[in-house]
Amino acid sequence: MTEGLRFIVDYNVGKLAKWLRMMGYDTMLFTGEDDSRMIIIPLRQGRVILTRDTQIMKRGVVTSGRVEAILIESEEPESQIQQVIESLNLDCQFRPFTICLECNQPLKETSREQVKDLVPSYVFQSQSYYMECPACHRIYWRGTHWQAMTRKLEKLCKG
Ligand SMILES: [Zn+2]
Repeated sequence: MTEGLRFIVDYNVGKLAKWLRMMGYDTMLFTGEDDSRMIIIPLRQGRVILTRDTQIMKRGVVTSGRVEAILIESEEPESQIQQVIESLNLDCQFRPFTICLECNQPLKETSREQVKDLVPSYVFQSQSYYMECPACHRIYWRGTHWQAMTRKLEKLCKG
């Protein structure tokens, strides 16, 4: 994974947030209530902007290169993540399972015993490794959905 990269994703390309979090990147979702925040946050926190909004690309901080921004071309999420991977030359050594897909918090390892009553019993029977989000308390495990997403990412990464 490309160390230190962090993102802010515009609501018009919101699906990118899940993909990037899946890859282990700290990714903030901009919900669109105050446009100036879309500039201030990346400026302060060194986040790369991902957007389909051409107006943002014309902002001084972007044209001067103080904030890096990528104008996303496609409307289709898989093409979008592929564009990000290619533009930033992200390596494929991503770290799935480290960041909550919903709220962008770093996940913490939890024990099988602790999740016994929180996950479906077929999951409990078949999985031994679990991570928990300290903020929303969602439990993650390497189930079929997770496998499908990582397989897709690997494919996109290899082009
Ligand atoms: Zn969470």
